[in-house]
Amino acid sequence: MAVERTLSIIKPDATARNITGKINAVFEASGLRIVAQRRIHLSKRMAGQFYAVHAERSFFDELTDYMSSAPVVVQVLEGENAVTRNREVMGATNPANAEAGTIRALYGQNVQENSVHGSDSPENAAIEIAFFFAQTDIVG
Ligand code: ADP
Ligand code: MG
Repeated sequence: MAVERTLSIIKPDATARNITGKINAVFEASGLRIVAQRRIHLSKRMAGQFYAVHAERSFFDELTDYMSSAPVVVQVLEGENAVTRNREVMGATNPANAEAGTIRALYGQNVQENSVHGSDSPENAAIEIAFFFAQTDIVG
């Protein structure tokens, strides 16, 4: 297995509840290393650019309102098979379907306010990391 990087976002429902440290503890316990991290408040426009792939979905407007409603923590996670590993650690999109012990089962509130984002492929990880970080921001 190769060492990979993936883009993670701790979402507004989690920053609002002051549980970013609890979520980071799950990443670190799972073997993922936080090699870049920044707390920012997305504009609705920037949230729309980030989630452009979902522009035609019925929930797009509500999703970009939510993602710009409070700060987020954008981060790069590094580790063996990091993209897939992070998706496992996150759990299913809908917290009601997420396996016990996953971040979304532990902390997610509903299908929208599900506490974390994670890239879904190595190709998208590279695009999403470059959306938020310069190479010099990432220190392994
Ligand atoms: P994931 O984040 O698991 O990759 P998607 O890429 O399908 O899931 O969706 C992106 C985000 O859009 C989800 O994490 C969630 O915040 C929101 N979302 C997905 N499906 C719905 C839905 N049916 N209703 C409202 N929001 C949704
Ligand atoms: Mg997705």
